Amino acid sequence: MELSPQLATRFETLQNRYPVKRSALIPMLLYAQDEYGFISDEIIAEIARRLDLRTVQVEETLEYYSMLHRKPMGKHHVQICTNVACMLRGGTELLEQAKKRLEIGHKQTTTDGVFSLEEVECIGACTGAPAMQVNYDYFENLTPMKFDRIIEELDAGDHPAPEPVTAGALHPRDPAETPVISRRFGIKNSHKIDVYLQHDGYKALEKALKEMTPESIIDEVKKSSLRGRGGAGFPTGMKWSFVPKDTTKPKYVICNADESEPGTCKDRPLMEMDPHQMIEGITIAGRAIGAKTGFIYIRGEYRYVLDIVQGALDEAYSRNYLGKNILGSGFDFDLIVHTGAGAYECGEESALMESLEGKRGYPRIKPPFPAVVGLYGCPTIINNVETLSTVPAIILEGGEKYASRGTPKNGGTRLLCVAGHVNKPGIYEVPLGMNMKKFIYETAGGIPNGKKLKAVIPGGSSCPLLSASEIDLPMDYDSVAKAGSMLGSGGMVVMDEDTCMVDMARRIMHFYAHESCGWCIPCREGTTWLRKMLDRFHAGYGRPEDIDLVGDLAKNMLGRTFCPLGDAAALPTISIVQKWRNEFEQHLSGRCPYKSAEALVGSR
Ligand code: SF4
Repeated sequence: MELSPQLATRFETLQNRYPVKRSALIPMLLYAQDEYGFISDEIIAEIARRLDLRTVQVEETLEYYSMLHRKPMGKHHVQICTNVACMLRGGTELLEQAKKRLEIGHKQTTTDGVFSLEEVECIGACTGAPAMQVNYDYFENLTPMKFDRIIEELDAGDHPAPEPVTAGALHPRDPAETPVISRRFGIKNSHKIDVYLQHDGYKALEKALKEMTPESIIDEVKKSSLRGRGGAGFPTGMKWSFVPKDTTKPKYVICNADESEPGTCKDRPLMEMDPHQMIEGITIAGRAIGAKTGFIYIRGEYRYVLDIVQGALDEAYSRNYLGKNILGSGFDFDLIVHTGAGAYECGEESALMESLEGKRGYPRIKPPFPAVVGLYGCPTIINNVETLSTVPAIILEGGEKYASRGTPKNGGTRLLCVAGHVNKPGIYEVPLGMNMKKFIYETAGGIPNGKKLKAVIPGGSSCPLLSASEIDLPMDYDSVAKAGSMLGSGGMVVMDEDTCMVDMARRIMHFYAHESCGWCIPCREGTTWLRKMLDRFHAGYGRPEDIDLVGDLAKNMLGRTFCPLGDAAALPTISIVQKWRNEFEQHLSGRCPYKSAEALVGSR
């Protein structure tokens, strides 16, 4: 097959980029799709030939990823998010408007091939909800008028300017609350290396290479009590110390930038506005565990972010902060940026490694844990963007000083994105332990239109929901766990008194049913049954016995699935049935007391 010179060059680069060729598969498919609009049989054969694979291996991988298409999409592929944060701010209504305006439905293309439409899951723009992507461009804070204007401009052949991420204002009140990892947000060209160097950039790496041993780096991270910011909250220094020292195998560091937990969009600005901070953190992690290669796995939707990160990597190589003999220290480290292609499950660390190896993103059996048997069967640590972006500050100022900003065992600050029914949705860096009620009412500006607060998802849609009476608590991992929920990925979604909690349970379950990889029965069948039951309930066809049945079905999934997605689907559902049982009972009258059920049922 004859490729364009540009695609041929890109393929050559990708084929030679990875320790194992097959890792290039997903990026090659995605770049080919960008050029041809879909993945044809000829492309499959060409990629299989270049990667020494059989065509069936290429096909079985590509079928797994929602961003890869076997049929042509429209020239402008309009993807509207209706997940929780967007739903609360009009995303469902926007989808209905788009269907009427374009005269097509979900996954359909206009007859002239100009537009296609897709209802999508969270695209990582929760603080700018309702949001959509057209191809890879983001458009946020949409209104019916703004949507129509964008469509008109596209129809006329123009290219409406996409919008940068919405970064909320920071509110430092005393020196202890001075932002740490977001302190360069808002500085002009903060993603460029010269600006980074003017603001302490790469000083921590220099210190780690010239003044510290791998052991002392790990000790400093342990002292900081930094816990994983991706969701699980596992102590970072301890994770690094699990990597065996005496192995002859290569070791790897992976930065998990597959931010997909609904409600969460804070890794996006970290990469967009301060990619060198993340690169520096990954390189220090590599030095700490003895790795010579690292990977940044970025979710496929964040294509413009991938381009920014690639630019930053090129700059870091050109100044010898990456590559051979970094800063004359004798330490070599290469960093590769990699794109996913749309699969929430790939945020789970073992599924991410499978995906990075060019396969379907199925999770692996644990143990062995990645620190011992990870990428390509070698010792690997995986941390998310925020965790690794925090490392330079810890090395530079010392673990104890960093830890002093938080509470015991919950060191430092973290980024919280707050979305839904608040006056000032945004991304804020706060010290761990800050009071949640104060954060919602003061930092995030309280609930719009003087309404009362009903519920809060504290850290992404997989967390049990808290009611208004439960939010007067410190936001640290242990306190939120004691209250029966999780700080999770830092994606907070706030709901006012007019939110229908049955509808919320329904929408959350739609997401997990959509994202279940289908491997284990309790998750595959449980999410599907719950989705159908909650749809039926919200439509007014629920039976009294269904209320307990929903709770029991969810409880039966807990702890019985292969990866955490089963629990992630069950936990919010159980909490909603327990805390807002009265709303299920109200639906027994045959209608939703909050909105027209008719408009909502069958929207996916
Ligand atoms: Fe797949 Fe769900 Fe099982 Fe995880 S819990 S392996 S997503 S079926």
